[in-house]
Amino acid sequence: MKSETTSMLKSALDNFDRASALLGDEYPSDLMQKLRYPKERTELRLSPQFSDGRVHTITAFIVHHSDALGPCKGGIRMSSTVTLDDVTALAMEMTWKCALIGVPFGGGKSGIVADPLALSPDDKQILIRSFTRNARRNIHPLVYVPAPDMGTNERDMGYIKDAISYSLGHATTQGSYVTGKPVILGGIPGRREATGRGVVLTAAEALGALGGSIKGARVIIQGFGNVGAGAAEAFVEMGANVVGVSDVDEALYGADGLDVAALLAHVRKTRSLQGAGQGRVVSHDALLEMPCDVLAPCATANQITGQNAARIQAKIIAEGANGPTSPEADAVLNQRGVYVIPDILCNAGGVFVSYLEYTQETQQEQMTREEVLARLDKRMKEKFKLVHDTAAARKLPTRQAAMYLALRNVCEAHVAHGALP
Ligand code: NAP
Repeated sequence: MKSETTSMLKSALDNFDRASALLGDEYPSDLMQKLRYPKERTELRLSPQFSDGRVHTITAFIVHHSDALGPCKGGIRMSSTVTLDDVTALAMEMTWKCALIGVPFGGGKSGIVADPLALSPDDKQILIRSFTRNARRNIHPLVYVPAPDMGTNERDMGYIKDAISYSLGHATTQGSYVTGKPVILGGIPGRREATGRGVVLTAAEALGALGGSIKGARVIIQGFGNVGAGAAEAFVEMGANVVGVSDVDEALYGADGLDVAALLAHVRKTRSLQGAGQGRVVSHDALLEMPCDVLAPCATANQITGQNAARIQAKIIAEGANGPTSPEADAVLNQRGVYVIPDILCNAGGVFVSYLEYTQETQQEQMTREEVLARLDKRMKEKFKLVHDTAAARKLPTRQAAMYLALRNVCEAHVAHGALP
């Protein structure tokens, strides 16, 4: 199992530098220098009093990378290993993702240095409320709008909305302070499954572009949380055969296919894939290298590296996670003709539906799940085609095509602003 390290920032900067070189002299070099760095990085020291009666000290980070296209948007990661540089890389990625998928947001991200699985539900709520209180000046519909990321979920977003309502003295019905909330609190139907569904929609398009079909395609999914489990359900719904899955505890492979509904029921009950009684247990490293058509890394960064890229058997990598492929691996995969659906496209379904939630709340409207999913499907397919066609026309790897399109949009926004804000 590869661990996530601060090399996330190095990968993000490498990708940025390549895209910036593609844009050549079209935009001032000062602008490129500006976009290489975040607008604001905040480190917070939280002091939640947990149910053991003790006041704990917990570090949190908030990074606003760019607000050229709109308020900064990006999830809250809760992990015992998350660093300020990781959060900076993730905030940068959000800038490109929003610009590519075409929503009026800039890029931001938060990190809370704590292990969510080691906290009781009550203590996690206390921590989220402590984070909200301390980050209050950073969170606003026109400044930074958080959402779930690794280690946080819909329920946590509900606590954030409630904590902000307290601070305002009234319900936050005017304007969206946080997305990915429970539907009953102004969330939007379809948000929970949006990221995973977007992964599957782009994978289906890529399979089609390679002359295949999603029907019967063999899929391996690393990570079985919000994105991975959501993708597994959507893959099955669209006729694919999920042959491998993993979480931190277990990696399972079954060449004839796994019963995703049974795996989901097991994980809901036990919070783990361990003991699911399906397929055979393999090592985490081996799972990534098993035979399949689509490999969907939906867990964490730097999983496909210079070490294992040559052994990956998938024809398509669908990046549900942020930054799962290192620049060294990218070079190997490109050379081998593996089709990579880059993270800023592949997992952008979540932020697209967050945008629908934001507009719904601002305009006091209510969208149905059918309307949300129809708009998600249309947008993911349009943007897949744009990236695919740009890659073909400019003879670029898909990641560079996506980054080129995204960076150009952000630069255009700066030009339209008329100055470097
Ligand atoms: P999550 O709900 O916390 O789930 C993460 C899953 O990955 C869990 O099943 C976890 O296992 C598993 N995992 C972690 N490290 C692993 C490893 N080394 N090998 C195998 N499995 C591992 O997080 P998430 O929201 O799905 O986010 C996953 C990725 O998608 C992150 O990179 C995130 O930034 C990205 N993303 C998320 C969204 C969103 O809407 N949530 C949107 C865009 C991108 P355990 O349960 O055993 O810990």
